[in-house]
Amino acid sequence: MSESIADGRPDPTCLFCRIAVGHIPATIVASDERIVAFRDINPAAPTHVLVIPRLHVPSAAGAHAFPGLWDAVMTAATRVAAAEGLDETGYRLNVNTGADAGQSVGHLHVHVLGGRAMSWPPG
Ligand code: AMP
Repeated sequence: MSESIADGRPDPTCLFCRIAVGHIPATIVASDERIVAFRDINPAAPTHVLVIPRLHVPSAAGAHAFPGLWDAVMTAATRVAAAEGLDETGYRLNVNTGADAGQSVGHLHVHVLGGRAMSWPPG
């Protein structure tokens, strides 16, 4: 995972920072000045979108240092879910944080998963 830059500056070595500025292609479904939402390259459900802050925040663990960040990211995630037609059937918002959760990209991201029934607890 990419290491922490505490002030949120873009990290040129970070995959998701590079997607956010358009240096790596992705299928973008929503964006504004604070967030970018794009389709996961290896979807785990019929709808699988990642919502990221433009700020480089390595994980949920440090997100409290950025006022308004969760509001921007989670509001975007629910809007993406609605735009994907998931409000009726339901969806899951998932934030893997750190090694035990299997976080593989060190830039905060919310998975928006839907389009199939999901089990609980997760593996
Ligand atoms: P996590 O395991 O929670 O860190 O999630 C990282 C997610 O990023 C995985 O679901 C990957 O499939 C996804 N991913 C990795 N590289 C790309 C990429 N270039 N474009 C879109 N999604 C990606």
